Amino acid sequence: MSSPIPAIRKVGIVGAGQMGNGIAHVFALNGYDVVLNDIAQSKLDSAMATIRDNLGRQIRKEMITEAESEATLARIRPATALDAFDDVDLVVEAAAEQEELKKSIFAALLTVVPDHAILTSNTSSISITRLASSTDRPEKFMGLHFMNPVPVMRLVELVRGIATDEATYKTMNSVVESLGKVTASAEDFPAFIVNRVLVPMINEAVYTLYEGVGTVQSIDKAMKLGANHPMGPLELADFIGLDTCLAIMNVLHDGLADTKYRPCPLLVKYVEAGWLGRKTGRGFYDYRGDEPVPTR
Ligand code: NAD
Repeated sequence: MSSPIPAIRKVGIVGAGQMGNGIAHVFALNGYDVVLNDIAQSKLDSAMATIRDNLGRQIRKEMITEAESEATLARIRPATALDAFDDVDLVVEAAAEQEELKKSIFAALLTVVPDHAILTSNTSSISITRLASSTDRPEKFMGLHFMNPVPVMRLVELVRGIATDEATYKTMNSVVESLGKVTASAEDFPAFIVNRVLVPMINEAVYTLYEGVGTVQSIDKAMKLGANHPMGPLELADFIGLDTCLAIMNVLHDGLADTKYRPCPLLVKYVEAGWLGRKTGRGFYDYRGDEPVPTR
């Protein structure tokens, strides 16, 4: 655990889904005051329960103490209204991967947050420059791309929009280091670095399933044992969320105008079915029983 950097004391996080709760967890664990916002109290209740469970896992692994866990929980204030963001120094937006939704969230935030507040988005793929230009402070706006699961993964991609100033970049670099994480800088092109490489690989794995080259299990086994990946690509897709994977492929396809980024029709079908992976209990595997069972 480190100490917060002095310029940033309080952090407002929008979206308390799988990324937002992890981001709240790591900021609060490292001494920042956190306001965590979502559209419904039920979402905030389940986010707080997840944070408590994940802190419990860290206690069992002797990474943190019981007292640190309690102090972490006490630093997080769940709030369904954005009014609670009136004294934040930093915003991390981690709502669903939809550009219009994110723009409307920033528009609402601008009526509340102080002038000095830095705005960031955890978007996996949407243009930081475009999101920034919809605000009154593109120079104080950047991409802060955490990896899933946030408490475990060390990397955070820092993405500068065209207008992001050096002071903002340096502040955010220090903030990430204060969380005990490591930064990699990416330019603002569709999907940045990690997802530009990773998600087309997942999409290709869905094509191999779609074309009958392999079954769900053989594809995952092949990539785990043949490429030494810790998770198979379909298992990983379920973990990320199939809606997020599809959204990233669409951003690559639209943004780079290259047919090699065409989303696999089978991925589209799973999303249309609402089979979004672990978070909905079913994706390429069915998680509703004791063991995951392939759905094809
Ligand atoms: P998620 O579906 O688990 O969570 C999104 C949350 O946003 C939900 O709780 C939803 O209720 C909330 N939300 C929707 N509209 C809102 C609004 N107007 N105000 C406040 N909250 C609102 O999604 P996620 O996986 O946590 O992804 C969130 C963001 O993080 C996306 O931009 C995604 O691309 C990015 N991301 C995801 C991953 C991943 O592996 N899942 C990794 C890195 C970045």
